[in-house]
Amino acid sequence: MKTVRQWFLDLFRLLFPPQCVACGMMLEEDEECLCKLCLETLPRTQLHLIKHNYLEVMLRARFPLQRITAFFYHKKEKRFDHLIHQIKYNGRKDAGIYMGKLMAEELGKDGFFKGVEVIVPVPLHPHRQRKRGYNQSDCLAQGISIVTGIPVDTTSLIRSADNQTQVHQSRLERLRNVKGIFRLTRPEAFTGKHILLVDDVLTTGSTISACAEAFHEVEDIHISVLTLSAVDRH
Ligand SMILES: [Zn+2]
Repeated sequence: MKTVRQWFLDLFRLLFPPQCVACGMMLEEDEECLCKLCLETLPRTQLHLIKHNYLEVMLRARFPLQRITAFFYHKKEKRFDHLIHQIKYNGRKDAGIYMGKLMAEELGKDGFFKGVEVIVPVPLHPHRQRKRGYNQSDCLAQGISIVTGIPVDTTSLIRSADNQTQVHQSRLERLRNVKGIFRLTRPEAFTGKHILLVDDVLTTGSTISACAEAFHEVEDIHISVLTLSAVDRH
């Protein structure tokens, strides 16, 4: 027999049917956040399987990079914009965690997280985080942690300036703009560690590079990077 709680949950579902965070279609009972079609067809990059992939080539000169991949290609596609919007601005922390879990399950099979000791999500500026109520990268990191068991550190890396309106800036402007805006509260805690920086979108790599720069004084640091999406250059 159904419990009262289950009965209320069913009623809630009936009144407010959950929709796919990408295409907006109503979800079946056995679906969570994404419908089966989106789950199957959102374009994976599979860059983690490619040695010296283009993201690695782009960033390895800037910091000691171990591994880098992005999960999806950010295509000019409505459902992809919708997905990012839901995770970033629409309070869908659950969808962020879900995407983190999905990435960890798929990439973990190929050993992407091997040797990683700490997950560090790219922080928002504290003002922005207070306004938005959460950081989407924290949610992704949390999901990855649930699957891999690797701990998340959300306190050691601090963003001291807000530079998030980058849309109309050139690559050089973006690089200048983010330089030096991240700092570490306790660099000694990371000595000899392999960290995984996590962010939602990778475009020029300037934000990730600026994060990595904050670790430059840490001895024997190893940095890997995972983002939910990257701009498709192919
Ligand atoms: Zn869908």
